[in-house]
Amino acid sequence: MNIPFVNLAQQFLNLECELVDTFLKIGRSGVYIGGEPLESFEERASTFLGVSDAIGVGNGSDALFLILKALDIGPGDEVITATNSFIASAWVIHATGARPVLVDVDDDLNISPECIESAITKDTRAIIPVHLTGRPAPMNEINEIACKYGLSVVEDAAQAIGAKYYERQVGSLGDAAAFSLHPLKNLGLYGDGGLISTNNSELASKIRLLRNHGLKNRDECVMWGYNSRLDTLQAAFADIKLKYLEKWNNRCIQIANFYRNNITAKIIMPYDKPWEHSVYHNFVIRSNHRDELAIHLLKNGIETRIHYPIPIHLQECAINLGYKIGDFPNAENFCKTMLSLPIYPELSDAQLAYIIDKLNIFH
Ligand SMILES: *Cc1c(COP(=O)(O)O)cnc(C)c1O
Repeated sequence: MNIPFVNLAQQFLNLECELVDTFLKIGRSGVYIGGEPLESFEERASTFLGVSDAIGVGNGSDALFLILKALDIGPGDEVITATNSFIASAWVIHATGARPVLVDVDDDLNISPECIESAITKDTRAIIPVHLTGRPAPMNEINEIACKYGLSVVEDAAQAIGAKYYERQVGSLGDAAAFSLHPLKNLGLYGDGGLISTNNSELASKIRLLRNHGLKNRDECVMWGYNSRLDTLQAAFADIKLKYLEKWNNRCIQIANFYRNNITAKIIMPYDKPWEHSVYHNFVIRSNHRDELAIHLLKNGIETRIHYPIPIHLQECAINLGYKIGDFPNAENFCKTMLSLPIYPELSDAQLAYIIDKLNIFH
């Protein structure tokens, strides 16, 4: 049996008729930027997330960047984020001219509140907790720290659309949040896309200006801006896919439970805390024999990945930040032991049973 790490084409096939109909409708409408399909998706997304505003943008990184710009974060400022994340969580800080301040993560792979508090200086302006793997970061503790020091909280919810924390959707838990609609994410499109959510309507208005050149209308520009919009076509596809998101997320949760209930190999698996509702963008296990395990699975046709093999503080681009090996022991240790197993709605029960069989014969 051959089990790829992802199978995006299968999902496309399942939705093909609906998607093609939408393509024809928009093609014939002649409106390809903005318009009703974008408004409809933004409306549906804000209702889903339980926020006042949802704003479609070009991609998940731009979503983070535009939020930071709207908060007037720039040179001289510091923003704290986790060192175990996708590189975009940090480069968006650098891109504003502010300094990325990296901190270690806890056993759940999410940013450690204690480490955040120790990293705060007089220049700190914001915290970017990442809901890594689709699991909510400890937002109560983070918001408490932010409140104590007067900091903004920008959720990096790129991997976590639909995840909940104490029954509340991620994306509604800080000052603003960024989602990625990249093909590999839980609500993935057919190209790049991003979404911003916030309950702060003043911030939302500013972000709407920033994403569209700072233009108040066709001719009047009120601030220097950017061009980062969610295409009409992608917004229409997102509107379709949002209807299925909960069903897909639930299937991923079912797969995670299946793994947990049936894997007997000696590995560490992720478990939700009672107040967490993870959506398993990734199912990350840990093993002291990670590399051998990955090879064993690959030999049996099962593809795995590592998210992420190099922590941000040890990336070449980050040399000027002055970090060194040993600065963040948890993240560095996890890099050597983590392995992501296949998890996506289209995985069949037979494929799952096969993966578990092969895992359980590994010693
Ligand atoms: C994917 C991702 C991003 C960036 O999203 P893009 O849409 O690829 O720009 C940011 N942060 C995290 C944690 C991600 O996984």
